[in-house]
Amino acid sequence: MAVSDHRLSEALEVLKGSGVRITPQRHAVLDHLIHSMTHPTADDIYKALESQFPNMSVATVYNNLRLFKEIGLVRELTYGDASSRFDCNTTDHYHAICNDCGKIVDFHYPTLSEVESLAEQVTGFKVSHHRMEVYGSCETCQLKKQAH
Ligand SMILES: [Zn+2]
Ligand SMILES: [Zn+2]
Repeated sequence: MAVSDHRLSEALEVLKGSGVRITPQRHAVLDHLIHSMTHPTADDIYKALESQFPNMSVATVYNNLRLFKEIGLVRELTYGDASSRFDCNTTDHYHAICNDCGKIVDFHYPTLSEVESLAEQVTGFKVSHHRMEVYGSCETCQLKKQAH
């Protein structure tokens, strides 16, 4: 079984455990999210599943994502505009974001817990979490630029 298939069945177990009814649409949204490594927006998922579920709206997709988020299955990454991206990797990781095409790639680095504790000392905040992102040009976009 592929890792992503394993994650899907685990996620479905979590849904069942939370008393959430697994509708074909919910199953499809979750399946798409887990198998796409791209941190899609609700709109991306809607477009990908549109032909399969002609009666489904973007709002339905979004509501399902919200529900998954409440249960802790996905993370929502907001970037100050309407297009939140959803990440089904809820382990600690960081993101590299392409300035040119908007692609988000996961990478792992030891959690910066010292930064959190320093921030608490300096600001008096009770820190809940942090987000670290690096920006640049992804490999595909670098190649495109070279070709020109
Ligand atoms: Zn790119
Ligand atoms: Zn991620």
